[in-house]
Amino acid sequence: MPAPDPLVDLTARLAAQQHDMVAMLDALVSSESPSDDPALLDRTADLVADLGERLLGRPAERVASDPPALRWDLPGVRSDAAPVVLLNHLDTVWPAGTLARWPFSVTDDRATGPGAFDMKAGIVQALFALAALAAADLPRPPVVVLVTADEEIGSPAGRALVEAAAEGAGAVLVLEASADGALKVERKGVGNYWLHLTGRAAHAGLEPEKGVNALVAAAELVLALDGIADAAVGTTVTPTLSTAGSAQNTVPASASIAVDVRAATVAEQERVDDALRALLPSNGATVEVAGGINRPPLEERAAADLFALAQQAASRCGLPALTSARVGGGSDGNFTAALGVPTLDGLGAVGAGAHAEGEYVVTTAMPQRAALLAALIVELSRRT
Ligand SMILES: [Zn+2]
Repeated sequence: MPAPDPLVDLTARLAAQQHDMVAMLDALVSSESPSDDPALLDRTADLVADLGERLLGRPAERVASDPPALRWDLPGVRSDAAPVVLLNHLDTVWPAGTLARWPFSVTDDRATGPGAFDMKAGIVQALFALAALAAADLPRPPVVVLVTADEEIGSPAGRALVEAAAEGAGAVLVLEASADGALKVERKGVGNYWLHLTGRAAHAGLEPEKGVNALVAAAELVLALDGIADAAVGTTVTPTLSTAGSAQNTVPASASIAVDVRAATVAEQERVDDALRALLPSNGATVEVAGGINRPPLEERAAADLFALAQQAASRCGLPALTSARVGGGSDGNFTAALGVPTLDGLGAVGAGAHAEGEYVVTTAMPQRAALLAALIVELSRRT
């Protein structure tokens, strides 16, 4: 009879830790961390550093960045494979005070609270996976754990940390939430724009004809955006916010429109960028374009090999076969894939509702996904 796979053992031991995992998720969700609140981000980073140190047996490096980030560099064991990077973020899209009306709670096998699914459960799973690996003493490559605090606003400071960690890495594993359990093998690239229009103010009653209406110009551009999108190749160009005017009886001298762009290829991102910069209203208002391409796309070829390896890892753990998904949302994995580093995303929580009221995590899946991550890291120890 062949010896049982030690990863089956590891999976069982993690299953027995479900209660502890949910308790840590409770602690993390109960520490609010909106991307725009330095004090709360700082406090939550302290908490993650503490909990992580307890599980990993070594302190995090507090990376000097604004907002703060944490990094652990864990040495490899019996493997000279290239390092594996685990990407996490501790910020959420939920403003301070959300917790008062929506505290952390668990009903049956669902845990809910602001940021539980995106992506505090992923942090918990990553730390427990690494602790289980250390306890099992299985061969593994060096592992870098990075926890940033500005992912939800496009990683203005985190991007450089993510790219530095990925340099020379053999693989990047992103602990963002799964898509209904599916791993994310393709993410569209993201562009964020503001179109600022300038017209000329005039009294709306006395001499409106002397004005140049920036709001009318904005309306024209909003309708033109649809012509820049290309559904056939999955390119979306969506107006999301707008402001205009200064008073009810004044022809507006200014208006602004925020535009969210998603595209599957760099070429499409550039085509849309050019088209947005060429927009010109017919009434003489002028346009200034702010923002631009933010995250490049995570193209499927960056993830295909790792997905196959994850399938193998799931089977070694005795877990059900994995599925894969292509999604519109970007993550820090887009940056690492663009550097040519194999990147697999969606390895975090199973559940639903990212950025939506009521987002939840399936608690029974937390140990399973931690085991999957651990097994995938073991599989990667055989690669150089
Ligand atoms: Zn996220």
